[in-house]
Amino acid sequence: MPRDPDCIFCKITAGDIPSHTVYEDEDVFAFLDIGPLAEGHVLIIPRDHHSELAAMPAELCAKIASLLPRLGRAALGVTGAEGFNVLVNNGAAAGQVVGHVHWHLIPRQTRDGLGYRWNAGEYAEGRAAQVADAYKAALASAGR
Ligand code: AMP
Ligand code: ZN
Repeated sequence: MPRDPDCIFCKITAGDIPSHTVYEDEDVFAFLDIGPLAEGHVLIIPRDHHSELAAMPAELCAKIASLLPRLGRAALGVTGAEGFNVLVNNGAAAGQVVGHVHWHLIPRQTRDGLGYRWNAGEYAEGRAAQVADAYKAALASAGR
């Protein structure tokens, strides 16, 4: 869908809601997150309305991915950050609140207090092979 009239990010790309734009081209729009986790926290979105990553055309996703090194270098230079996270909250269970797919670009400093509960687990004997096989089968039968 090119644009959803009820979508806040579609309103931002249309200029109906103001934003602090940092980058735009014919397909992609990037602007400052209104509730930054760090100064310079940017949201990168496709201009067309796609609710989530898994529903996006691969080429459009590739275009956004191709911009990440450049936007990341800009984030480091502008904020003096030592690193950054690129994060997509995909689906409500994963913390997605705005239903227009977006990449968070979050500048990071050592000991900035941000983090993620990374509760690493482990596979039971044989389970990893089963899961990997299930992925291969799913990917073989799915379209691009
Ligand atoms: P998510 O939880 O991944 O859906 O993140 C949505 C993000 O959108 C949050 O970090 C919000 O701070 C941000 N956000 C919501 N409304 C606006 C807005 N009008 N301008 C900029 N960022 C926004
Ligand atoms: Zn939208």
